[in-house]
Amino acid sequence: MKLLVPIKRVIDYNVKVRVKSDNTGVETSNVKMSMNPFDEIAVEEAVRMKEAGTVEEIIAVSMGVQQCQETIRTALAMGADRGIHVKSDEELQPLAVAKLLKALVNKETPDLVILGKQAIDDDSNQTGQMLAALLDWPQGTFASGIELSDGKAKVIREVDGGLETIEISTPAIITTDLRLNEPRYASLPNIMKAKKKPIEEISPEDLGIDVAPRLTTLKVEEPPKREAGMMVESVAELVEKLKNEAKVI
Ligand code: AMP
Repeated sequence: MKLLVPIKRVIDYNVKVRVKSDNTGVETSNVKMSMNPFDEIAVEEAVRMKEAGTVEEIIAVSMGVQQCQETIRTALAMGADRGIHVKSDEELQPLAVAKLLKALVNKETPDLVILGKQAIDDDSNQTGQMLAALLDWPQGTFASGIELSDGKAKVIREVDGGLETIEISTPAIITTDLRLNEPRYASLPNIMKAKKKPIEEISPEDLGIDVAPRLTTLKVEEPPKREAGMMVESVAELVEKLKNEAKVI
């Protein structure tokens, strides 16, 4: 089997995100960037499938600015075989990413595309679903378990209040949830080996896709600041404050 794993370069999950002073977006200059955590889980799952002998080739693809190649190198060090960088300095919204991925799927003909369930910067949770619709492929979203066998994939899905198991035929789209696995750290020898693995660079124009944004962000704001708490002397005082000040009882 051949796998395509889309990985997004996002603000590192440990960084405290700051909103730009003109409220047009969040500050990304001089901020540590890393692979989207759900995409690390997707790469890990793909590498485990390769180690189990069900997958022959893993292609990691990232779309965006030049530095996306660093993110691709991380995936190559984790065990992906080659990379594709769709280079663009434009903002790439989920629909544009899904259209670019569709063009790559037509070019590479993978059996499975494993994406993250959402990118932690825009929290869209759209790209995998849009890609499934554009390709008219089955999809298993929010996967916390995947089993492959003979043209089929069994996907355990995290749903409200429990787990749902579905069976879909491949080729298919799968999106990863947090509990699917724990991604590995790349070892030093593998980081060295990854430097020699190929990364193909192409442009949206090469793929014939118009990536112009379809959505306009009107405003980005910080969440309201929480007011300081207060200590009360007794339960009676607490009840009095809840009743007369907070007016919640
Ligand atoms: P989203 O729909 O933006 O929340 O993203 C869901 C998933 O789509 C991510 O976890 C990635 O697997 C993939 N994705 C989104 N944007 C990109 C990008 N620029 N490059 C590669 N993959 C992406």
